[in-house]
Amino acid sequence: MSCQPKKIIIAIDGYSACGKSTFAREIAARLGYIFIDTGAMYRAVTLYGLRHGALHDGQVDEAALVALLPEVQISFAFNPERGASDVILNGENVERQIRSLEVSEYVSRVSQIAAVREKLVDMQQRMGEQKGVVMDGRDIGTVVFPKAELKIFMTADPAVRAQRRYAELQAKGQPSSLEEIAANLRERDAADEHRAISPLRKAPDARVLDNSHMSVAQQMEWVMGLIDELCR
Ligand code: C5P
Repeated sequence: MSCQPKKIIIAIDGYSACGKSTFAREIAARLGYIFIDTGAMYRAVTLYGLRHGALHDGQVDEAALVALLPEVQISFAFNPERGASDVILNGENVERQIRSLEVSEYVSRVSQIAAVREKLVDMQQRMGEQKGVVMDGRDIGTVVFPKAELKIFMTADPAVRAQRRYAELQAKGQPSSLEEIAANLRERDAADEHRAISPLRKAPDARVLDNSHMSVAQQMEWVMGLIDELCR
């Protein structure tokens, strides 16, 4: 990078399994910023609900989940092996558990609950108070940081996304079928786009990145160009 801008907030939103986290993590590493994966926070609440009986047999017991919320404490701990932060739920590292297909199947319904969003958005806004953060999610540029200096909206071909998530789960030793993954992505995208509160939407001033046929290196070149522009 040819110049070091003052610390800014970079908001990255977009569809499921577009590579938002990989991209955000890489930007944070280059700039020495903190990367916050907000999807991991919604997943941690979902895992807690599953473990304490508020979610079962495909049903979401909203009142039970909301009653559990005061018990849920979420933090992040840097994992040098991954070069990213693991999510910590009430003192336990649950980074692996939150990525299961079971959690993925409930998380978009959990994230529709107003009290859940209020709690997590408040935490996210506090994490960004000092700036110097790259945050990825669905409502970062629209609700969490509507004044973020740089907003990016990511998208990619659904078949490419399903294949990427499939390969990721295989590599982690958590295999599942490509069809199941594709169906889950379709359902989550629809739920995220059509929910009443903070639906997935491109902020009017967000730059669109379709990375269907782009390597991470190409995406980085593109974003570093934008960050350079901000310095001028
Ligand atoms: O990013 P990831 O796919 O892990 O997010 C899991 C789910 O959490 C999404 O499908 C969405 O329903 C929800 N989410 C959200 N708002 C965010 C981040 C994630 O509603 N800022």
